[in-house]
Amino acid sequence: MVRVRIAPSPTGDPHVGTAYIALLNYLFARQRGGQFILRIEDTDRARFVAASEQMIFDALRWLGLEWDEGPDVGGPYGPYRQSERSEIYRQAVDLLLASGRAYRCFCTPERLEEMRRAQSAAKLPPRYDKTCLRLAPGEIAARQAAGLSWVARLNVPQPGETVFRDELRGEIRFDHANVDDQILLKSDGFPTYHLANVVDDHAMAITDVIRAEEWISSTPKHVLLYQAFGWPAPRFWHMPLLRNSDKSKISKRKNPVSLIYYRQAGYLPQALLNFLGLMGGGMPADLEKFTLAEMVEKFQFERISLGGPVFDLEKLQWLNGVYLRALAPDEFLAQLQATVFSSEILRAIVPLVQERIETLAQFGDLADFFFRDDIAPPPEIWLPKKRTPAETLKITALMLEALEAAEWSHAALEAALRDLAAAQGWTAKEVFMLLRAILTGKTASPPLLESAVVLGRARGLDRIRRFLAREKSRPPA
Ligand code: GLU
Repeated sequence: MVRVRIAPSPTGDPHVGTAYIALLNYLFARQRGGQFILRIEDTDRARFVAASEQMIFDALRWLGLEWDEGPDVGGPYGPYRQSERSEIYRQAVDLLLASGRAYRCFCTPERLEEMRRAQSAAKLPPRYDKTCLRLAPGEIAARQAAGLSWVARLNVPQPGETVFRDELRGEIRFDHANVDDQILLKSDGFPTYHLANVVDDHAMAITDVIRAEEWISSTPKHVLLYQAFGWPAPRFWHMPLLRNSDKSKISKRKNPVSLIYYRQAGYLPQALLNFLGLMGGGMPADLEKFTLAEMVEKFQFERISLGGPVFDLEKLQWLNGVYLRALAPDEFLAQLQATVFSSEILRAIVPLVQERIETLAQFGDLADFFFRDDIAPPPEIWLPKKRTPAETLKITALMLEALEAAEWSHAALEAALRDLAAAQGWTAKEVFMLLRAILTGKTASPPLLESAVVLGRARGLDRIRRFLAREKSRPPA
């Protein structure tokens, strides 16, 4: 029985890359009468975002990629959230410590830093030097008794080599000179990705690991872990990464990557799935428009080409247009009412315009920017009187970073903008006016931060990114 999984980490907005890998896993399972599992890898507490898990569920369901087992639907191999499996990982580490395949390391951050500096001065690859591997058992016990904090590390045999098969690439070899004694259990008692991933793939009887190619360099560590536990390893399929048009790894600087954005900006899930199905060349070359069911029927993993598929937003937009135009008028209307003209969004806008309106027909004048996609204000609107374009673009780039990191609430946005203004020697008013111009295209609008909250994080950030992209590519006047 084929069993595959996706294992997203809830660290922010659900990513198009997650949808792409989910689609491939889904197809693989459905083509083989297998099961498709959703596991939440939430052991990195520093990057954990509470709302993220639900957003992942919602986004994948919106796309129609239903899973057979997962945290919300249950299943015989649960729990499916790693934070609920701590005991399992601790027992696994105990096994490795007992067999000598892992060891306790007490090195302090300062010592590790010093070691790294020395290695880089000697032009050696950064690698833990196994100091703690040589501790005598009595010394280990004494340090533990003294309450010193420790991590568990994988004991990678040196010298050595790990060889594994990638189903798309054939044999891959890693010289252990480049494989670090990976931390398996952190000092807070949480496992690292590598340990939890291997323990769970084994415990959940995963037969095929289909994931993005960025994990290839982790795979030797995983293979060593399977060997250390004495477990058979699954088959590995590393999928080519989605790329920006300049061939760099897809990134939010160059493309919207949040699935929330695509949903709110009015892309149809079937169009987005179709587009993702075109990535990597698994479908017959002469087909451009197809359904999920057709993908299940015709997609071939053997056909995937390894050159990174370009996530071409223009193409996606074109394809979405094809789907929209093919809708019956009533369906089209229903789509509008479910997205850009939903009662939910209208209800949120009402309090922002009711105060300032004299006839109902003015609603459009006041609220137009919520319903527009591209806002391209001319410099008369966005350029503050006392600032140059270069200064203004610089602070806009910093604003983008600050707002990406901020929670999308009135209070948090306000604090982030005020901090930014203070740090850059701008007045808060100048910064607010700049953001107003970018989001609304006007110098006067309904209350700015309330409007930003209604517009939403995904579309708000997208407007700032598009503004920067447009203005940076504008030839100087
Ligand atoms: N948690 C990893 C991620 O966020 C999973 C990678 C894997 O599939 O092994 O993508």
